[in-house]
Amino acid sequence: MNHHKSLAIFILLLSLILSYFSARSFLSMRENEKYYPSESNTKIKPLSDYFEGIKNTRGDTPVYLFENEQPGGTILILGGTHPDEPASNITTVCLMENLKISSGRVIIIPRANNSGFTHSDPQEGNPQRFYFKTKSGERWFRYGSRSTNPIDQWPDPEVYRHYPSGQKLSGAETRNLNRAYPGRPDGSLTEKITYAIMQLIKDEAVDLAIDIHEASPEYPVVNAIVTHPLAFDLTGEVVLYLQMEDFEFNLEQSPENFRGLSHREWGDHLQIPAILMETACAMHGRYHGSKNADKAITGLDRFYIEADKHELLSVPYPENGIPLKERVGRHLKTIQKILEIWNNYNPEKSIVVENIPDFFEMQEKGVGAFLVSGE
Ligand SMILES: [Zn+2]
Repeated sequence: MNHHKSLAIFILLLSLILSYFSARSFLSMRENEKYYPSESNTKIKPLSDYFEGIKNTRGDTPVYLFENEQPGGTILILGGTHPDEPASNITTVCLMENLKISSGRVIIIPRANNSGFTHSDPQEGNPQRFYFKTKSGERWFRYGSRSTNPIDQWPDPEVYRHYPSGQKLSGAETRNLNRAYPGRPDGSLTEKITYAIMQLIKDEAVDLAIDIHEASPEYPVVNAIVTHPLAFDLTGEVVLYLQMEDFEFNLEQSPENFRGLSHREWGDHLQIPAILMETACAMHGRYHGSKNADKAITGLDRFYIEADKHELLSVPYPENGIPLKERVGRHLKTIQKILEIWNNYNPEKSIVVENIPDFFEMQEKGVGAFLVSGE
């Protein structure tokens, strides 16, 4: 009897210890990484300033405004629409922590779907965090989920009907921020977030907008700039110049009847040139091996090398993989070129941004060299 009692106590203690550690690991997903915006950062506002309906929800997210006394145009840049695409959020962080504004304004939302950062996709085996070495220490970033956290929006319908088009998609897409534009004030949390972003574009008189993404190396639209027709001339010239500098990019026009995408709805509803960019991430497709924090940085997966040999991929996949520094570098390079061309055609609305990390320097030094040293 006594023996059974002590066994029971032992099992109880063991389960308490195990649940303590798993709860701690689970709750750490809701912790935010720290950002250190540059001196050009004048304001940090919650997105709920533009639409009250997301206040006190995990859909609310910080909006960083960078400006200088010199007036000009305004660009909006979104990272973390899909929090499982590391180059997306990291590109915006590298920008935020380095840029110097000479004229105009840059508005950055690094965690566009903040709720998606607070959980991980089940059965994907993604790491919870990934790490960079900076000059004086390590910094961590969240590897989140593609979609809004089901704790914040549940249940999914059988079929997701996009508002207002009525387009039908699978139920889980109801939590995909990049299928929920233009959103509505009384819709799901995801629709409320996109509605808030639409309000921001109006209230801040945004002139052009970019949404940064990643996709699997086998996805047909990768290393791509997907453009709304209103940005077609701009992006056409951008791609031409990038190709002259040996950067291969595909220019794709966004399909008119595929609704809910950021750049499509921004352009259609708010008449601004809008752009979506994609780089290739080996953690995304269906050929990848096991995943871990290192792979988020190196982008190296031997199964993708094999897949490339069998010509299964849409982009070349070299023996050393497609590292994060290359993907972030490409995004930054494209943003720089977009601004350059924009300024040529819109001198009265120019947005002059200096100190954007250089592609080649980033290949040499790594992403961590462009992040502010952590505490
Ligand atoms: Zn994406």
